[in-house]
Amino acid sequence: MTDIATTRTLSEAAVAASTCTKCRLSGGRTQVVYGTGSADADLMFIGEGPGFHEDKQGIPFVGAAGQLLNTMLEEHGIPREDVYIANVIKCRPPGNRDPLPDEIEACKPWLDEQLRLIAPAVIVTLGNFATRFVLNRMVSISRVRGERFRVDGRTVIPTFHPAAILHGGGMASKQMQSLRDDFAEIRRALDERAAAAAEPAPEEQLGLF
Ligand code: URA
Repeated sequence: MTDIATTRTLSEAAVAASTCTKCRLSGGRTQVVYGTGSADADLMFIGEGPGFHEDKQGIPFVGAAGQLLNTMLEEHGIPREDVYIANVIKCRPPGNRDPLPDEIEACKPWLDEQLRLIAPAVIVTLGNFATRFVLNRMVSISRVRGERFRVDGRTVIPTFHPAAILHGGGMASKQMQSLRDDFAEIRRALDERAAAAAEPAPEEQLGLF
């Protein structure tokens, strides 16, 4: 028997995750940061792991990186409440260090389950850790950002992690312009999907039914 059921709801899964002790990070966390947003979102963002503010509030992307994510969403007309936001790991690593391979592996069933339950049409991976998780390849974000990939029937668009912009070149940098370009691509992917959904089915066009 597995501890990840296939039939429970997202909120039931979040309750189960809240007491997880599958890796060492459970010892240092204030709380599990499971994820937030619409359970039937078309668009899902995946970051790396909770930082100081996320650990305190229990919500992903509420610190400085979250502010930049919010700005990008607003600039591209995407309401934050319409999307789902999660991380590769659900507990804050000490001193915000990178997650270790065994921590990512221990946490994997939670994100796999989130992806299965939400079934987003478009997944945006923020930074190397999320991109490698979803593409299941050792890629570098600067090589693959802005491209569209198909994974299990979903569109995946990797982009820079907002924290990398804040700690790197800043708001006037080339990376920041790339982040904007990638959000324009995300917007296009959503618009194309909406247009395809609004088109009559071929049999309707032929007036056969
Ligand atoms: N960085 C992340 O990767 N995730 C968060 O939730 C916050 C900062």
